[in-house]
Amino acid sequence: MGGFAWVTLATNDSYSLGALVLAHSLKQVGSKHQLAVLVTPGVTNPMRAKLATVFDLVQEVNILDSKDESNLRLLKRPELGVTFTKLHCWRLTQFDKCVFLDADTLVLQNCDELFEREELSAAPDVGWPDCFNSGVFVFRPSNETYDKLVQFAVEKGSFDGGDQGLLNLYFSDWATKDISKHLPFIYNLCSTACYSYLPAFKQFGADAKIIHFIGSSKPWLQYFNTETRKVQPTPDVKHLEAILQQWWNIFCLLIHPTLTPDMTGLAGA
Ligand code: UDP
Ligand code: MN
Repeated sequence: MGGFAWVTLATNDSYSLGALVLAHSLKQVGSKHQLAVLVTPGVTNPMRAKLATVFDLVQEVNILDSKDESNLRLLKRPELGVTFTKLHCWRLTQFDKCVFLDADTLVLQNCDELFEREELSAAPDVGWPDCFNSGVFVFRPSNETYDKLVQFAVEKGSFDGGDQGLLNLYFSDWATKDISKHLPFIYNLCSTACYSYLPAFKQFGADAKIIHFIGSSKPWLQYFNTETRKVQPTPDVKHLEAILQQWWNIFCLLIHPTLTPDMTGLAGA
């Protein structure tokens, strides 16, 4: 394939709904790059078929079936399993450069310029700004980096039990070395920032390019009124109602009509 790709990850059918909406959002903003999704065995075959209608590549990743040395090392640390799944993105060596996006992100404006950045570029985390948030990051696929990351994971673990803790330890000079690797916050506007610094959200929120619904209030778990076709967000994400509505508009228009009856219960209420 070559070239550049957006990459996301889904380990089950509900995160796959996020991945589907994300992919449509990338198409709506006219991205010219390819779309890839990593899936684990928890994603059903009908859902994989849906993913394949929007993604150029649906790549199964399964640590237990793999026989290579890095995976075997990792099997000694089963608690790192979920973390490890995201690391598989480094194995997509058919692409020259990629941007990883969590399945709970939504692209609001074209951001193809992200591919001009180098590994590892990411935006600051809201909780600890000397760490980057691992929901959006630019990386260069490489089996060598993948092996090093796995080895690092086995030896050092992750201070938060997730991929973000691991990646921040591995790319530990991110905070200080090269400001060009600091993405502006509008490329990973975390949903909690809106109330933790409301004046800044009011001033700059309209410039957001990628919104990231961190925490437990995922868009697909919000109550959606099928008669009014309006989302009714929980209080913690009420300030994001307009953007959640955008997520649901994509879902209703482009995804829901194509789902089989057993899939429609995965989102909303
Ligand atoms: N993920 C997944 N299944 C899970 C949990 C996470 O596929 O059960 C993937 C998905 O791409 C998700 C990412 O891992 O967006 C990171 O998890 P999440 O977004 O829930 O973490 P947060 O951003 O809230 O810290
Ligand atoms: Mn996320």
